[in-house]
Amino acid sequence: MCKSSLIDAHIHLDLYEVEERGKILQELDLYSVDALISVSFHLQSSEQNLAFARGDRRIKAAAGFHPEQELPSEREVEELLAFIQKNRKDLVAIGEVGLPYYKMKEEPSLSLCGYIKLLELFIKESKRLNKPIILHGVYEHAPIICGLLEKHSVTRAHFHWFKGDRETIKRMVRNGYFVSITPDVLYEEEIQQLVRDYPIERLMVETDGPWRFEGAFQKRMTHPGMMHRSLEKIAEIKGLSETTVYKQLYRNTTEFYRL
Ligand SMILES: [Zn+2]
Repeated sequence: MCKSSLIDAHIHLDLYEVEERGKILQELDLYSVDALISVSFHLQSSEQNLAFARGDRRIKAAAGFHPEQELPSEREVEELLAFIQKNRKDLVAIGEVGLPYYKMKEEPSLSLCGYIKLLELFIKESKRLNKPIILHGVYEHAPIICGLLEKHSVTRAHFHWFKGDRETIKRMVRNGYFVSITPDVLYEEEIQQLVRDYPIERLMVETDGPWRFEGAFQKRMTHPGMMHRSLEKIAEIKGLSETTVYKQLYRNTTEFYRL
């Protein structure tokens, strides 16, 4: 670790084009990015991320089923759980899992029931395997997820790109959950407020790449190097030195994921 090393706590490496992924991996050292937590969309994506991780020690794979899509069949769920069980030693976490907030915005009649059941299966698995869980859960879905985590006494929870009300933020802090900050902290007041409200000991940084950002990052491929700008902004908001923030976020991520 050099004094300005970073870890991307949430990226979808398998969703990049081959050349883009090659460029990112080639440039990690240049940008002092020591590791990437590559999260998965479904079984095939989990297999892909695990293969990347086996070929490059800087890549850490998480297996899961992203909630912003149609529910999987029972058989697909069984296969995914079997995959997680079989490869548990090489997976750092379960994720990305959660609830379909944006899909429900488009289809208000969508039932949450099946998604909650599936999420509960992943939460139980995270507890059983003693692995952290990476959550996609925003606004009114976040308290539902907190309830499920509390029900199963799971505390190693990482809410990525979190957005939600202050009551829920307080509850998450009390429960010891982590959140990660995306490059939109540079221009989104809502994310800047989250940085103000959340203890530095529970923060990480992420890109959620290949998702693209606006402002200074407009029309640019999302690259883990962008997290240096996020970190500078976090230091400014918190009134802490950049050195302190680099150190703290690095420690948070390595300890949480046991890297
Ligand atoms: Zn994601």
